[in-house]
Amino acid sequence: MRFEFATATRIIFGDGTIQQVPPLAAEMGSCAFVVTGRTRQRAKPLLEQLSKHRIKCVTFSVPGEPTTTIAKAAVLQARQAKSDLVIGIGGGSALDTAKVVAAMLTNSGQLEDYLEVVGRGKPLTQRPVPCITIPTTAGTGAEVTHNAVLGVPEHRRKVSMRSPLMLPHLAVVDPVLTYSMPPSITASTGLDALTQLMEVYVSNKANPLTDGICREGLKRAGRSLRQAYQDGSNRTAREDMAIASLFSGLALANAKLGAVHGLSGPLGGMISAPHGVICARLLPLVCEANVQALQRRAASSPALARYDEIARLLTGMATAQAIDGLAWVQELCAALKTPPLAEFALKEQDFPTVVAKSGKSSSMKGNPVTLTDDELMEILKKGQ
Ligand code: NAD
Repeated sequence: MRFEFATATRIIFGDGTIQQVPPLAAEMGSCAFVVTGRTRQRAKPLLEQLSKHRIKCVTFSVPGEPTTTIAKAAVLQARQAKSDLVIGIGGGSALDTAKVVAAMLTNSGQLEDYLEVVGRGKPLTQRPVPCITIPTTAGTGAEVTHNAVLGVPEHRRKVSMRSPLMLPHLAVVDPVLTYSMPPSITASTGLDALTQLMEVYVSNKANPLTDGICREGLKRAGRSLRQAYQDGSNRTAREDMAIASLFSGLALANAKLGAVHGLSGPLGGMISAPHGVICARLLPLVCEANVQALQRRAASSPALARYDEIARLLTGMATAQAIDGLAWVQELCAALKTPPLAEFALKEQDFPTVVAKSGKSSSMKGNPVTLTDDELMEILKKGQ
């Protein structure tokens, strides 16, 4: 057995921990580039505290999921400001943009030089400026991953910039910051975290360290996602979901994902649906297809036993089997009102392109069984 595990240099978790950021940031730099989500307002208390610690701040607001155009604008602004520290506060969109800016402040050339799949995929050579990530969704786990996902409009797909050097210096996970998420965002981001935990746990690149992390994350998401959706002020549920999200990031950065993420990369570049919504819609469909394909073509695969284990972790029933886990996920997605992808103008004539592009994604390679093009088409049809 061989495996590696790498994560952010330091992780601080807990209610109110955002207050620890300004003094720690002051040790890392004096001119911060602060990347926020659409609502800059959410970062206001932090900006005030940073200023009290004599840190000069330039802010950049990411209007939606980041594209190469948005990321380039952010990099340009940070270069002009001569920023020596980057802070991302927001959902995965703000955190990913922050990670790209930190990397591009020290590495010369164009963004495309470093992009996977559609770019030149060159490795970063210079250590990025210090980067602090503060998630406000629960979520993507992007605070502890070594990649950033960017939409590339001219290729109609999302791809990653990825490097071990992109692991943030400090991740501060303060569950209180997630209390303001409305139910729809709690649902889609929470189902993204659940998807990541499930996909890594059954992935063919899972290792004992990611296994332990996924089990704990699955248990917490299983007992708390519905609660957080129904009552956003439920402290225990918000804390569980912040941990589930963090753990999903720790796990995905050190193993591989699966077909949900294999399909969501191309889909995210072709339709305007948020990443979490795409994952939420595809999760029960991919689970069903995977379990059926494993039963038909690889009945001795250890992944089947893993689906049984997931069922036990999610339902809390000691005798649950894969089929019960699948029913639980289907029921949860229905209760959390996951919208069909047709609402985002996904058309049947796009399916072959999505399937062809998904074959090139690194996530698809982690799926525990190779799904045929027909099986992938069927998933998309049902997801519509
Ligand atoms: P997001 O960052 O796009 O945010 C979704 C919406 O929620 C936005 O409108 C945002 O303003 C709002 N929001 C954020 N925090 C809020 C809060 N506390 N209260 C109220 N509203 C809030 O969504 P996301 O799902 O966190 O991130 C999605 C992006 O992350 C996608 O681009 C996806 O591809 C990427 N991603 C990256 C990784 C990685 O490892 N790098 C992993 C998974 C997903």
